[in-house]
This record gives sequence, structure tokens and C-alpha cells, in this order.
Amino acid sequence: MPMPLTPPAIEDVSVLARYPFLPQSSEFIREQLSSNGITVEGLIEEPWLEDVRRRGSLRLVEAVTHKDGIDAATTIDISSDIGRMTEALSFLHAMLIVCASFEDRLLTRWVEGEASRADQLFGMDGKNFDIIARTYLSDIRSEPVPGTTEVTYHVPLVDYLELCPKITGRYWRLVNRPVKAGWVRMDPDVGESSRQRTARLLKERVRTSLTADCASRIAKMDDAFASLFADPVDRILGLLSESVQAEMPMSAAVREDWPPCFESAVAELSQGINVNHTGRVFLAAMSRAMGHTPEVTISFFANAPDYSADTTTYQVNHIYERKYTPHGCAALKTGARCPVSFGDDRLCDQEWMTHPLKYLRAKQRRRYQEENQAEIQADESTAGTSQNRPIDVAESNELDDSS
Ligand code: SF4
Repeated sequence: MPMPLTPPAIEDVSVLARYPFLPQSSEFIREQLSSNGITVEGLIEEPWLEDVRRRGSLRLVEAVTHKDGIDAATTIDISSDIGRMTEALSFLHAMLIVCASFEDRLLTRWVEGEASRADQLFGMDGKNFDIIARTYLSDIRSEPVPGTTEVTYHVPLVDYLELCPKITGRYWRLVNRPVKAGWVRMDPDVGESSRQRTARLLKERVRTSLTADCASRIAKMDDAFASLFADPVDRILGLLSESVQAEMPMSAAVREDWPPCFESAVAELSQGINVNHTGRVFLAAMSRAMGHTPEVTISFFANAPDYSADTTTYQVNHIYERKYTPHGCAALKTGARCPVSFGDDRLCDQEWMTHPLKYLRAKQRRRYQEENQAEIQADESTAGTSQNRPIDVAESNELDDSS
């Protein structure tokens, strides 16, 4: 049973701002952009939208660094127009950064963080819980618990059967849940109320619809649009790389994705050709940004005509510790480290190509799209997920063009 095709209408704009991932919030987010005259560039650059970006970055950082997801607490006052705008657009800003990264691990963490936050907030929201549940489930019923202000929820068996296998614990096995006439009773358990237990089920639907949303956006993102988010993408990927080091190293870029300037620096050094200072610093900083370990980066210098293991190790470690940002295209051209001329490489010819990391992301995005095309088409063909599209990237691009 997918999500309901027509979710119930929500009039309260504070609810739409608090839960910007709801399918009903898509129109609200569009209105926030259009009524405030905000373009995608504005979202990235306008000084007056700094709070939006800060809140969006916080949502991302918490998703990457907090094992338990995004903190449900927010200091944003959603009773005010500006507070609602900040909350809704910060979600959009974070989502666009995640999509522009084309990094599955970041996407998974962010979606998990947002879904966990939704789980916490839903469980506390007695006033709006019914309408939220009807957004994600085919139906819901509640009955008062005698002598208390609490209620016990019942969810349709057809929804429960789809969602419970995704949740571990004895509570969620169907044999442990009372079922009557096609309804599953959600009793309180392990210190959680019936509402909090039911919210855990809704979390699964939030996760699924957000993942499908992101896949759909990534499929539609073009290189120029994705490059607008290059700086915040690199910042969050750097943080993700540090955060997951203890778990598993980030997968480094495959060689076919390397920009020509990086490829030529590596190739020249491996052939014993001298590479100038700009090229060497760029090679080490770029290699770090691409997710290579210091050992891999040091190995690129092993055939340099003046190679010294101690000196190279010291200099590469210095660049890793200081987190040097790789040179941009302009600096590489000035330093004679850009090997392409106009017509050699279509990506390098693009007006927006100002940094080798943009080249890398564009290549990764194309590969991601090729590998995931079949999966995306299957997602889009499911009626339930196609409902949940807070703002279409194509529409974002239209806004972009009108600026
Ligand atoms: S245009 Fe930029 S990305 Fe392309 S090779 Fe030159 S420096 Fe590298």
C-alpha cells in the first residue's frame, strides 16, 4: 500500500514549515520563494538569507555527525513569517546541497537524519498527529485510554505489513501485535506512547519518500545548476569524510572522473617529469579533496625527479592537516597547470567551469545518473512517491532564469 494519492489538506502554515518534507508543503515552499522574490542564486548568495543557509547547514551537519539524526529542537520561531520561511527554505537548501553532491553516503545520512527528526516531532505532536498520519498511511483510528488523556492508535494491517519488516525488535513482529478486523493496535511499549510507536512507522514512509524525491531531483539536475552548490557541497563532503574515517574510508573518485589538470599532474610525475610548485600543491590538495588517503597522495610523487620520502610525507601531511583548498581553474591556468585548450574537453569549455572539483562532481553526477536511471524510472512510476515533490529542480531552474 503506497502513500495516499491525495493527502489531506493542511491549512496551518506553521505545520507546513515545521514539516517541509510533507507532500502538502511543496506549494508552501514554492510560495515562500516566489512571494519573497528568491532565486536559487539568492538562496546561495543573498546576505539577508544567511540564517536560512546557517540553519540548512546545521541540518546537514547534524545529519552527518549525529548518530541519532537531526536534533528535533529548533530555535526558529515558526509563529512568525520570517521563522516559517527560514525553516522551510533551510530544508530546501540542505536538500539541494545533498542532491548536488551526488554522494550516496551523504544522501543516506541526511535522509536518515530528517526521518529521525520527523519521528521525534510526530511523536510529540498530539495536535496534528492525525492529519500527519493520514498523509503517510491509508487510514488511522484512535480510541481514548480510560482515565488518562492518552489515546491508543490502530493502523491498517496492509500498511503495517509493508512497514514492520523494516524495523527491528520483538514489538514489530506481527505475532506480537493485537490485530482485529484488519486493524493493528499500536500499544505503548519501552517507555514510548502509542503515538510515538506509530510515529516510528511513519518514519519509514518519510525515509522512502525523501529518498525518491532526491533521486528524482538528481536525475533532473544539470551541470550548471549543480555547480552553484559546489562550495557548500565540498564543505559537507569534507566533514563527511572526516566523520566516516573510523567506519570506512570514503571511496575515492574513479580515474575516469579525474579532471585533466589532475590527471596530467599525476601522469607527468609518474613519468619522472618535473611538475612545478603550483602543480604539486594542487595535486596534494586535490587528492585530499577527492578522498584519497595521505599514503595514496604520497605515492603519486614517488617517481618525481627530486623525490624524497621524508620531505614529501611532511609536505603532504601538512596539506592534509591544514585542509588546503585546491587551486581553481584561473589559478591553474596562470600557473601553467591547465593542460586543455578550447575544444579539447567539452566540460572544461563550460562557462561555469571554474574549479576542478566542479569537473569531478559533473563526471560523478553523469555516472550516477547512468547507473541509477532504471531505478529512478521505477521510483517515478510508483504513484505514492510522485506525490511528494516539495519543489521541482526544473522549477528551481526557471526561477533561476527569471532573476
Ligand atoms: S579548465 Fe579547469 S578543470 Fe579543466 S583542466 Fe583546466 S583547470 Fe582543470
